[in-house]
Amino acid sequence: MIKLANLNAQHSQLFTQIQDAIYTVIDNSRFVGGDPVVDFERNFAKYCQTEYCLGVGNGTDALEIAIASLDLPLGSEIIVPANSFVASAEAIVNTGHIPVFIDCDINSHGLCIEQLESVINTNTRAIIVVHLFGNPVDMCRVMTLAKKFGLKVIEDAAQAHGARWKKQSVGSIGDISTFSFFPGKNLGAMGDGGAICTNNEKLFERSKMIANHGRDSKFDHKMLGRNSRLDTLQAAILNVKLPHLESWNQTRQANADFYFEALSGLDGIEVLTLSPDATGVFHQFVVRLSQRQKCQQFMAQHGIETGVHYPRIITQYPPFAHFESSTPNSKLFADTMLSIPVHQYLSKSDKQHVVDTIKRFVESNLKLKFSEYEKVDVRHNA
Ligand SMILES: *Cc1c(COP(=O)(O)O)cnc(C)c1O
Repeated sequence: MIKLANLNAQHSQLFTQIQDAIYTVIDNSRFVGGDPVVDFERNFAKYCQTEYCLGVGNGTDALEIAIASLDLPLGSEIIVPANSFVASAEAIVNTGHIPVFIDCDINSHGLCIEQLESVINTNTRAIIVVHLFGNPVDMCRVMTLAKKFGLKVIEDAAQAHGARWKKQSVGSIGDISTFSFFPGKNLGAMGDGGAICTNNEKLFERSKMIANHGRDSKFDHKMLGRNSRLDTLQAAILNVKLPHLESWNQTRQANADFYFEALSGLDGIEVLTLSPDATGVFHQFVVRLSQRQKCQQFMAQHGIETGVHYPRIITQYPPFAHFESSTPNSKLFADTMLSIPVHQYLSKSDKQHVVDTIKRFVESNLKLKFSEYEKVDVRHNA
């Protein structure tokens, strides 16, 4: 089976180093904080070209803490894309604010900048930019708008460690940024983990206090905070993996190039059109086609695992259904997109097999009249 993510291969590549790192933590018996966390924060800040990095419990905590650090009036509107992992919007509501959902561009799947500008009003305070699939959003246009309207910019870079917009690392461009080290992300721990990066000392200090019960020394609780830490064992594991991230990302980019080359311009299948200013890290490689469910079955029958990111836009989920939105492109993506394996352990023949199989599906799919398929599908779903 060609898997969508191959953690086994990653862990056998680094097994002894990870084992040593874990044993060292056990030997020292310091399981909260300590050198592995300090080292990781320093190394990851350097990797992201930011002044500061704070390790936290996971990528969702990172978003909540980053939003809280901005100290916005309760009930502020925060703009967020409708097609993202639910956490991007969840964090807005959980910090007492109002998500305003916007659409994506139909070719690049990037943020729709025109709609972004049109929803800004006097209650708008911030934008959460999501570099979904590891494809960077046009940060020049976002920052220009943010400056014009006095908005804060949070980059949700949970899928985009190492991606760049015009040579600048994502996560270093907005006011504050968040990362996830969920095991399947391009840089993943062996459990949960997350980080906040920023060049703004004040936001860093506030985030640090919020994540640590609102204190800056042992019992000096200055503000309402919480507990969210990057686990020491996870930091030790991430320190082993981080030096490999750049080469892993490069392999993903080469795999993506192969797919773009092989699948562009074919009838019945769409690939994204990315800006030449974007250096993506391809957390997912996404295509669009009709008959997605059948395609997934066909691929699985030929030994290829695929995924859907994400099958619904956020406003289709009950907790968000009462927020108004007009996001037809995002809905179309949600209905038709499919993620194919793009990870760094694919062999040349794996990639060729993926391309051949999806082409065979699309060709036979085109031969059948679309209307006949529709009928079959309705019956299938009933
Ligand atoms: C994974 C992810 C998150 C959440 O990260 P966790 O570490 O799972 O909490 C947030 N936003 C996006 C876009 C993600 O992909």
